[in-house]
Amino acid sequence: MLGLMQNWPLTVDKILDHAKSWHGDREIVSRSVEGPVVRTTYAEVHARAKRLSNALKGLGVQPGDRVATLAWNTARHIEAWYGIMGIGAVCHTLNPRLFAEQLCYIINHAEDKVLFTDLTFLPVLLEHRAQMPTVKHVIVMTDEAHMDPAAYPGALCFETLLAENSADCVWGDFDENTAAGLCYTSGTTGNPKGVLYSHRSNFIHTLVTMGQDVMGLSATDTVLPVVPMFHANAWGLAFSCSAVGAKLVMPGMKLDGASVYELLESEAVTFSAAVPTVWQMLLAYMRETNSRPSTLQRVVIGGSAVPEALVRAFRDDYGVSVTHAWGMTETSPLGTLATPTGKIAKMSPEEQLRFTLKQGRPPIGIELKLVNDAGERLPHDGTTFGRLMVRGPFVVGEYFKGDGGEILDEEGYFDTGDVATIDEYGFMQITDRAKDVIKSGGEWISTIEIENLAVGHPKAALCAVIGAAHPKWDERPVLLVKLEPGVDATKEEFLAFLEGKIAKWWTPDDVVFVDDIPLGATGKIDKKLIRERMKGYVLPTAAPAKATA
Ligand code: AMP
Repeated sequence: MLGLMQNWPLTVDKILDHAKSWHGDREIVSRSVEGPVVRTTYAEVHARAKRLSNALKGLGVQPGDRVATLAWNTARHIEAWYGIMGIGAVCHTLNPRLFAEQLCYIINHAEDKVLFTDLTFLPVLLEHRAQMPTVKHVIVMTDEAHMDPAAYPGALCFETLLAENSADCVWGDFDENTAAGLCYTSGTTGNPKGVLYSHRSNFIHTLVTMGQDVMGLSATDTVLPVVPMFHANAWGLAFSCSAVGAKLVMPGMKLDGASVYELLESEAVTFSAAVPTVWQMLLAYMRETNSRPSTLQRVVIGGSAVPEALVRAFRDDYGVSVTHAWGMTETSPLGTLATPTGKIAKMSPEEQLRFTLKQGRPPIGIELKLVNDAGERLPHDGTTFGRLMVRGPFVVGEYFKGDGGEILDEEGYFDTGDVATIDEYGFMQITDRAKDVIKSGGEWISTIEIENLAVGHPKAALCAVIGAAHPKWDERPVLLVKLEPGVDATKEEFLAFLEGKIAKWWTPDDVVFVDDIPLGATGKIDKKLIRERMKGYVLPTAAPAKATA
């Protein structure tokens, strides 16, 4: 017997409809690519997104066509996003930090028909235009005054298209399983693969992430999504903020400490989300200038593991609460958050910190399991490492165009490629990417754990750990340290700093001071590149003594 409730397809256009109807005058403030801070509202964004839908239809965009965006976080990007999705086309967010060759590969693979771009990326687009044969139209997200036809002949102007089209456009009216968005993984192993979100998966992700124990967003919040819309949908904030009617503050292209701080203060931001490197830059700025955030209450930090020193600084020096989150493009992206349970909330702040530093627990809609290489389930004892597997209504089922083949196990779980533990409180902790974990004498060593401890050394700016070949133990850890500007340090002081904090046999065999620790396109340490750079490196130790943990 079927239920007798209304059939109301879960399509994301309804989210912006809701924002227009019930939070129409709530502001969206952007640091524009042209420079000035500009202000608009959900009602205006809604009307302009509809105009854009008509413009896209006029350019021949059909349901299912892919329309790409190469853009920073601004209100215009939100307009493009909803304008595309509202008519059943697929919004393909491109990460401008990728190499041009990778961008061309992705654009061709997706067969993007129209491409929205910020002014910033015109030179690179023009240079590679011939390698994007499927792209019929390029729309520059600016006004006539900033259009330079000589800079990009044939490009269309965003504001002109809006002015020429009416806001009378029907959105939705299609199956909730219709594709809404496309985002490619960063492709650290092989070619990038496309994750094709549906309206339904985005809608459910939005409902889940609004929850008190997840992002806990409210109509009273002012939210600064530093995390880009091209990186896993800005962790869903372009949807969830519209859904609750939070004021949005879009940072544009300026993500340095001073610019982020300026927006936090001038717009009275209460909530923000970003990768750890952004917060490190903000902290450095606040320390240098002796300034502090006056309205900021909560930050969500994810994308890579949050170092302890960062949580302590926010909590103890600035009174800002940190929620550590884990997720991936394939999980829409939020998978777990380290918000306390009833038991944990009763612990002392110091005991709670132990849990904040883990990646956390799944909200409703995410199922997790840990397995060994044979696919057998492993215990949730907080120490046994295993492959982290995930399933749920906003988790990838297959990659776009079937790349990578069958990606689910027989129970329908997706292999995240992460290695993790789960403790008796249900808190998951990532110990490594499966390809980065160090296998020493048949045992696994977590590079992330050592990195996070080492970066707590006051002289360290960034740390990375990789495995180096060893004749007896297969691999042993090497710690790479980028020092704070103008300081000197010795290998011995870093090893002494780690002593007692990790098992003896996890102690790196060497410490190498480097000028640069490269970060990839999504702000994560690029270990592939580090390994390439360290190719000729030979460990000074021939036979380290292996102790038991
Ligand atoms: P992406 O799809 O680019 O967002 O990358 C997802 C990957 O980033 C995950 O599979 C993890 O390896 C890593 N990641 C995301 N969040 C965290 C976190 N909080 N701690 C450690 N690794 C993380």
